[in-house]
Amino acid sequence: MNSGGKKRTPPNGARESGAQCLECGVPMELSSCHDEEHRLDYEGYRCPNCGHTVVTLAQMQAYTSARDLRRAPPRRTRIIRIGDDLGIVLPSELEKYGFSSGREVEVTVLDAGRLQIEVVAPDGSIPRPGL
Ligand SMILES: [Zn+2]
Repeated sequence: MNSGGKKRTPPNGARESGAQCLECGVPMELSSCHDEEHRLDYEGYRCPNCGHTVVTLAQMQAYTSARDLRRAPPRRTRIIRIGDDLGIVLPSELEKYGFSSGREVEVTVLDAGRLQIEVVAPDGSIPRPGL
């Protein structure tokens, strides 16, 4: 993980937005960070003075989950007919990422060769990973 700044494990109290930088003693600010290696945006606490970044356990878990999703290899499947409709069978291993039977998805045709499938949140929104 490369945030563009020095990284360390979360010190005690880093969960609170009032946590202070161990180097500078100034309050850490909740900010968006970027991991260039995995092309991931994630949330962490950054020192506005020296740029040191810490993440809470929950932020680290969100980051590793998103990173693992990026590492998942492409899977090939087939479009099948289901009555008058078409379906796509997804590997059951995707359940570990929260893609479960019955989840509402939004399908967008990007062009003649590409579909985009996005999971719809209970409130009807399309969650964007990272932040
Ligand atoms: Zn600092």
